[in-house]
Amino acid sequence: MPHSWTRRDVLKGALLATAGSLVASPSRKPANAAATAKIRYIDIHTHLGAFYPGRELTAEGLLQFMDEHGVERACVLPLISPESAPVAQPTSTALAAFKQFPDRIIPFCAVDPRGVTVPPQRTGHIAGVKGLVDILRRYQEAGCRGIGEHKTGLPFDATQNLYLYEAATEVDLPILFHLDDLRNPDTPGLPRVERVLKEFPKLPLIGHAAGFWASICGAATNADFGRYPEIPKPVEPGGALDRLMEKYPNLYGDLSEPGGEKAIARDLAFGREFLIRRADQLLFGTDVLMPEQKIPQFELFESLNLPAEVQRKIYRDNALKLLKLETKT
Ligand SMILES: [Zn+2]
Repeated sequence: MPHSWTRRDVLKGALLATAGSLVASPSRKPANAAATAKIRYIDIHTHLGAFYPGRELTAEGLLQFMDEHGVERACVLPLISPESAPVAQPTSTALAAFKQFPDRIIPFCAVDPRGVTVPPQRTGHIAGVKGLVDILRRYQEAGCRGIGEHKTGLPFDATQNLYLYEAATEVDLPILFHLDDLRNPDTPGLPRVERVLKEFPKLPLIGHAAGFWASICGAATNADFGRYPEIPKPVEPGGALDRLMEKYPNLYGDLSEPGGEKAIARDLAFGREFLIRRADQLLFGTDVLMPEQKIPQFELFESLNLPAEVQRKIYRDNALKLLKLETKT
């Protein structure tokens, strides 16, 4: 909160918050401070539950984190595939949090496409792409705005994953995916991701994690897909992310977790230019999943002194647009 705020502004803000209107309104800040006022974040990536035993993040805990860091709304992403978390975090948890805090929580849903059966097989309980569409529509009607975190042990363009991408396109929900050397794996240059971008041009694909963000660098290796870079580490030109974002406007980057942070921090000069160059396709996120988690993104991005319009797009406007959320600002 800028120190130029008066006590009256703060009180007014508290009243607005109580009334359920949690979006900054022009009346909450002095007119001459508009340019320097803090942009309230939309966090594209959070999790509820106990990823680590005894470190459960509850909806109340998440709200406390959001209030401490100026996050207006947060996407809660279920984790249901066996490769995604030690204990599954179901879509019902995200929906319950949304019911409790409808102005602050944006629920996502997850379906593991390995549940799909294509007749005459009898391997799963979801009847083909249509079965997936039925499930996704039910989640959508309950309030879900996106699919994810999509984090399976299948190659990124495995046949069953393609069923999910087809169903996602049909229900018109973006999909947020994890990509490293084991989960939805791909190889340097991201050929599997490119195949999907080409095959599903209307599907917004939001990538994150070590393999996705290693691909900011033209010299990314297979080993880099399973680890984070040492800081500092110069970014070599010719990275797959720049090439694919240029060619496919449906590719987005989720800047959460160490992958997103280190992609920018490893080479601050390149990172700053990348954020500016790809400002329409990048989304602020934390991947907060336990209490008292340190999130370096807040300070890192602020330290880069990015143009105000770039901050606004990355911190909130791109997410609002992508998730089709009416903006009250
Ligand atoms: Zn992830």
